[in-house]
This record gives sequence, structure tokens and C-alpha cells, in this order.
Amino acid sequence: MERSDSQYAQAKVAQLKSEYQVEVVSDWGEGEGDWNPGTWARTELDRLHSAIDLMVAAMGGKEKFVHHLGGVAVRKSDIGTHGGEALAHRVSLSVKGAFSSWTVVHEFAHAWDANYGWRLSRLLEKYTGGFTSPFLSGVLKAAGLSDTDRFRAGKSPGRYGRRPGCNRAGYFYGDRPSGSNWSFNRIEDFAESVAMYVGWERDNDLSQHARNRITRYQLKNGEKDPFNIIDNWMDYARRFYPDNGDYTKTKRWQFVDDLVNGRIEVRQEPVKHGV
Ligand SMILES: [Zn+2]
Repeated sequence: MERSDSQYAQAKVAQLKSEYQVEVVSDWGEGEGDWNPGTWARTELDRLHSAIDLMVAAMGGKEKFVHHLGGVAVRKSDIGTHGGEALAHRVSLSVKGAFSSWTVVHEFAHAWDANYGWRLSRLLEKYTGGFTSPFLSGVLKAAGLSDTDRFRAGKSPGRYGRRPGCNRAGYFYGDRPSGSNWSFNRIEDFAESVAMYVGWERDNDLSQHARNRITRYQLKNGEKDPFNIIDNWMDYARRFYPDNGDYTKTKRWQFVDDLVNGRIEVRQEPVKHGV
């Protein structure tokens, strides 16, 4: 943050706090005579705000957003190679490179799920007809029936662990997610489903990403997708590509739609630790 942007930033931070109970943990300010720029850029505060706006709109207004997330502190921190991390009431965004609007919504979706003791992702798993079985997953992998190397993800097309149960968690997703890989589990499924819902065909900052997630299954085997991944897309189309390419026809889109419109009852209890 430049000194010249600090007044703007202060107003933006105050607005996020008062509108959404989102507290930006600021690391810029007056040092010992010097200006400490910290890790946030003005454009990142803007991106954070507009991504939250999109999520708020999809959730049906700021009262609902505040009720469901219960206040969130957002910081920039060194969290290794991934873009973000989240628990109830806290989101961390990587200091390495700029974060995307997609990452913001993805991480805030985790914070939402966490605030409900991770029950939202369990409900999604059930709603979409999936289940988690490390045992069955181990059997598949041991028998050489998974699209992975024996007990880990491979590094070549057709080996990334995209088929149901062929991931680290033993997550057998149901219906058609927009994607899956070795790191996929019901928690990631929920966060990605929320981001897909917020972006799908709404002409916003997440929409191109959401579209790219689906159109890649129309590529030929060995082609590179918009995320620079080469895979055997045709082989995976039947697991991921929705009817007529319409993501609103999937159970995931329907689940998030039911959730934000109050058609799914969820108990909000204190979060238990160790989940
Ligand atoms: Zn995640």
C-alpha cells in the first residue's frame, strides 16, 4: 500500500467492516519515520471488496452473509504454494502473487462451511449422491483401477486422479462436479461449487473462470485447457460435462441454489474443534 492510497484504504477497510463484518488485517502504516507498504495493494482491496459483493448478492444480501459467516478476519500471509486458506472467521490469502476473485469466493465459502462445523460440505456430498471411503479408494488404487499411479497422483495426462474415489481423501463424488483431482474432497467440492454458482453465466469477475471449467471437456485428448493443463479431456467429459453444457442442470448448482434460498435447513451450532 502506497502512502498516497492510505486514506482510500482506510475508508475501504472501514466499509468492509461495517457492511460485511469483514476485517482486513492491515500490515501497512507509518513506521519509524518511514512508510511501511505492507503486503496489500489498493487494487487488491478493491478486488476483495467486489468479490465479496458478488458472494453477498448470490447469498441474498448482506444480512444473510453476515449471519452465515459470522464475521471474518482476512490477512495476507505466507502459506506456501496454494492461493488461500480458511477456517471459521478467518481467511488467509497468499502473499505470493495477486489473488483472484475466484480465490476470494472459494476461501470465503470455506469460512461459511467452517462456521457450520463443516456440515455444509457434508450436506453437499449427500445431496449429490457421493460418499467418502478411504478403504474402497485404497482397493481401487491397489488393484490398478484408478487414474493415478499406485498410491499417489501421477504426473501425466489420464493420471491426475480425477475419477470418483481416485483422490487422496477417497472421495467418491456424485453427479458432475466442474472438476476433480488428487486434492479433491467434499470440503473443496463445496468451495468450488459456491464459486461456480457465483460465477456461472452472471457476467462477473468469476464468470470466465466458471465457463472455462466446463468448456475444457469439449477439448480433444492431449489438448491444453485454459488453466494450462494437458489431459485426456474427452475421456473425462462424461463425468464432468453437464447436459448441453448447462451447469445449472447439475446437482451442485441446485444444491447451492437451495442453500442460499433457504430450502435447506442447517443447524448453526458452535464449531467443534478437531473436525
Ligand atoms: Zn480450498
